[in-house]
Amino acid sequence: MLDYYRFKDAYDLMLQGRIDEAKKLLTDLQTKYIEVCEENTILKTQIQEFEDILYLAKNLVYDGSHYWLMTGSIKQGPFCRNCYDKTGQLIRLNEAAKGWKCYTCGTRYGDRESARFSLDIDAENVKRPTAKVIPLYK
Ligand SMILES: [Zn+2]
Repeated sequence: MLDYYRFKDAYDLMLQGRIDEAKKLLTDLQTKYIEVCEENTILKTQIQEFEDILYLAKNLVYDGSHYWLMTGSIKQGPFCRNCYDKTGQLIRLNEAAKGWKCYTCGTRYGDRESARFSLDIDAENVKRPTAKVIPLYK
């Protein structure tokens, strides 16, 4: 915690001609200020990560085969179930000869027609995955 009232102490030391003590106090305050700024940056990053996790928990839909991300009325995807379950990353599947393929893990999924059909499913009645906690520090 930055002791803001200490700036007044530094000012008083300057008025008293105790310049070296004032400089030392200001140096200490500067060090604390930098620490507070770094802590603030870390906390902002954590808040953003929690917001991202919350967004995914609310908007990620599992149709029994693939994951889909709901953004308003638009369904994005499909995303690889294998990659998401293992790493928490949403990897978009690519169309393959008879279905979908993940170029990251190599997993193949059923035919595209069933995935297209799943675009029309009622998002309210779809099984939603529980939120996955992504580690903040590695
Ligand atoms: Zn994958």
